Parts: sequence; structure tokens; C-alpha cells
Amino acid sequence: MKTYQHWIDGKQVNPASEAWIDSVDPYSGDVWARIPRGNGEDAARAVAAAKEAMHRGPWSRMTATERGKVLRRIGDLLADPRNAQRLAEIESRDNGKILAEMHGQLKYLPEHWYYFAGLADKIQGSVVPVDKPDMLAMTYREPVGVVVALTAWNSPLMFFTIKCAPALAAGCSIVLKPSEFASASSLEFAALTKEAGLPDGVINVVTGLGPELGTQLVEHPDVAKITFTGSDTTGAKVYELAARTMKRVSMELGGKSPNIVFADADLDSACSGAISGIFAAAGQMCTSGSRLLVQNAIREAFTERLLDRARNLKLGDPMRLDTEIGPIATRPQFDKVLHYIEVAKADGARCVLGGKPATGAGLGCGQFVEPTIFADVSNRMRIAQEEVFGPVLSIIGFEDEEEAVEIGNDVIYGLAAGVWTRDVGRAIRMSKALKAGMVWVNTYRAYSFAVPIGGMKRSGMGRESGIEAIDDYLETKSVMISTASGLAGNPFLQR
Ligand code: NAD
Repeated sequence: MKTYQHWIDGKQVNPASEAWIDSVDPYSGDVWARIPRGNGEDAARAVAAAKEAMHRGPWSRMTATERGKVLRRIGDLLADPRNAQRLAEIESRDNGKILAEMHGQLKYLPEHWYYFAGLADKIQGSVVPVDKPDMLAMTYREPVGVVVALTAWNSPLMFFTIKCAPALAAGCSIVLKPSEFASASSLEFAALTKEAGLPDGVINVVTGLGPELGTQLVEHPDVAKITFTGSDTTGAKVYELAARTMKRVSMELGGKSPNIVFADADLDSACSGAISGIFAAAGQMCTSGSRLLVQNAIREAFTERLLDRARNLKLGDPMRLDTEIGPIATRPQFDKVLHYIEVAKADGARCVLGGKPATGAGLGCGQFVEPTIFADVSNRMRIAQEEVFGPVLSIIGFEDEEEAVEIGNDVIYGLAAGVWTRDVGRAIRMSKALKAGMVWVNTYRAYSFAVPIGGMKRSGMGRESGIEAIDDYLETKSVMISTASGLAGNPFLQR
């Protein structure tokens, strides 16, 4: 069993309390590692290291071009097949995400680092054409300060990347606290950044419980900005706490995304998109297409087509490359998914597939849920309104475009949406009418380092990836310089 330490100021450090948290492999049910249970003392130590690095250490003196080169080397190290394989296996063991998906992710994560490496020395202010004679006006774009990143358990390496790469390109330093359920890959990744030449203290990773260590970090007076990925309930608490010290905040929260299939769509592709939208990662995705809206004219036939495909999905050991669905990542999440299945049944949704824990050979300790499909769901039911974060799909009928938009938008969330149609005009109308930060047309789960992603409504604020991501880590400073030769005129009038 491996015992991890915090990563503070470029070194492995024991928790001040000498207390630890068990990390459980969700497939075998075994404790495979221990992570530090951090407290306020650890938070203070990590923030002090980040502050020193940002304001006095080598990081503060590097040119933006040099910073970009370090980011590029981090990308290179991540692309090294030995590092990629090791990190992929650690994350699979920690949260049960299938290794095949981790391989794909690790191939793509370096591209994020290269993209922000290239952006580092293209962050610039402007000279503002100002309406005052004898005045030069300019803006500077400056790093916001020490950033605290709080992340969820479902994709820790991805969150590490999409938060740290733009923050570092902007010149910030970071203290990252991953989820207590899956911290190992973030600790391993942090150590790798030292090999890439990242100065000590620029990235610190401390682990522990949200209400303990997380709160201490959010409250810390030397922290300027919080970037959070997690549930909307926790996000609201963090937002409130951060407001007391006026910290900048960005929030990547939950969703209840509509995946909308029109009768004129390529139904084979739409079926694949529906499967990928809800059963990939065992449905444990913020963007999961958990509400499948199907036009009434094809609803029955499309449901049959979907059932044919979903019945044959392969559940099993996430480390096996032919596995399609792994375990549910944590015991509380497993209980939550089963609870929602019961709520849906009690509310009158018709269970046409699954609906219980999956059992049988090859399913480890049994923390699996059968791919589950409910038909005849009304959008007012809890199963259609609340985030389940598991392999549970609700099928909802609609008559026409107008009704699809109305149902699609009738939730508190606004993270993602899918539209399946061959009609280009309809595709564009729908992409405008849907209240979501990302709309996919004739595809689902497509991401790029260059394309911003984030939530509307209760799915959050701020954007990750793309040029917009940098803005979340910058402040604009304005400078006005008088070019007049003397200070003439009345000193009590505004200039
Ligand atoms: P969570 O809200 O329970 O925890 C997220 C992080 O916040 C963890 O690191 C946790 O330790 C910390 N935390 C918990 N309580 C805290 C507190 N009081 N103060 C400070 N920090 C605290 O979320 P989770 O269960 O880890 O993740 C699942 C959720 O994340 C889902 O709702 C999912 O939709 C969302 N998510 C969103 C995105 C996105 O990009 N929009 C991506 C992945 C997951």
C-alpha cells in the first residue's frame, strides 16, 4: 500500500496532524493507498509557498516566454508513454474510470499544455484611444494572485490540467486540493512538474476533506481566486465563503443536459451519441446527456434501437481494455444512484432496462449499477430535474422544435446540450435557443483545448479551455499618464 504526502514548495511533506485518509479502489473494494488529511496548518504552509513563488521566487522574475517553455516541457513529460501509462493506471485504480478512456485522455492532455504554453507570451494590454488631450492611457493584464483550485473525483488529471495550464500561463501560482476520493493522480502529476523545471511553490497539492482543508483554503486571506469544480450545492457554499473576502471565483458545476433527437436525424449516429452521453464513464460526467428528448414520431422505435445497443454494454474491471463501463467511483455515489432509481420508480417512470446493482463474475466488489433506462418520463419528475451522476437515462417525448426547447431549458442547470438533426437551419436555431454553455450538433462529448466550456444558470460561471480561460486568472490594470508639460488649471476639477 502506498502512503502519499502533500506536495508543498516542491517537496513531499507529511500532514501536520499526521492523520491520513484511506483511498479505496472502487473495483476491488481494497484500500490501495493513504493520502494526507490536511488541516489549517497545511493550508497555511501551501499558501505561503505559493505566495513566495508568485511574488519573490524565480517564477516572478521569468519572462512570459520562459514560462511558456516550462509549460511546454510539462506537456512533453505528460506525453512520455511511461508517465502517461503510470498516471492513467493510478487514476483508474483511484476512481474506476476505464483505462481505455484514460489512455485517450492522456494522449490529449499534453495538447492543453502546449496550447497555453503558446498563449503565455501573447497576453497583452492595450493603448486606449482616450478622449483627453495630453494623456496616454494603457491597460496591463496582470496575474490575479495565488489561486486555490478545488476539484471533483471524476477526472482529476483533466481538472489539474484545465485549471493549472491557463493559471500558470497567466503568471499565477496555485494550491490545488483534489477530491478526498481521488487525490493520488494529482499528487503524482505535481511531482512531475518539478522535473519539467517548474520552480518550487508554483504548484502545490494538498489533500484532505472539503469542509476541513477546503474551507481553510477558501478563507485564507492571501488567496486571490478560487476555481472550483464540483456539485452546485458545495459550489454555493464555497461562493458564499469566498465572497466574505471578495475573492474572484469561477465555478464548474453540475448539469442535467438534454440530448435531443429529431425524427430527421441520422438515427444510428444519434443512438451512439445517446449511449456515449449517458453510459461513458458510467454516467459520472458533468456533461452527461441524462435527459434524452426524442421526437414522438420515432420515440418507440428509437427506444428499441437504444435498448438493443445498451443491453450489450460490457461492464467489468476498468483495467481491462475491452471494458466499456467501470464501477461507480465511491460508495456514497453508488448509494445515491440507487436511491434515484427508486425515486424514479416511485414517481411513475417506467424502467425499461436495468434498475438495480449489477452482479456476476468479473464485477469485483460489486460497486456497479446496471445501465438503466427510464421511459415515459415527465420533465417535472425528480429524475428529470436532479443530477444523478450515474448510468441512468430518462427518455422524454416531444412534439416539435418549440416543445424541445421548452423542455430542454426547463431545469436549473445549463451546462451542455446535444441536438441530432439533418436540417441545418434547425441545428442553428436550436444552438441559439438552448440555454447551455456548450451545444453539440450531431455529436456528443466533443472537447478541445481551444473551445471554452462552462456553465450557464446553476451550472456555474467562468469558462475553461480556449483563450477565455486565461481571463479568469487575470486582472486588468489601467494606467493614465499625463503628457502635458505642466499641471495647469483648477486642481478641484476632474481631469
Ligand atoms: P463536491 O462538490 O462534493 O466536491 C468538490 C470538491 O470540493 C472536492 O475537492 C471537495 O473536497 C471540496 N469540498 C467539499 N465541501 C467543501 C467545502 N465546504 N469547502 C470547500 N471545499 C469543499 O463534488 P464531487 O462529488 O467531488 O463531484 C461531483 C460533482 O462535480 C457533480 O455535481 C458534477 O456535475 C460536478 N462536476 C462538474 C464539472 C464541470 O466542469 N462543470 C466537471 C466534473 C464534475
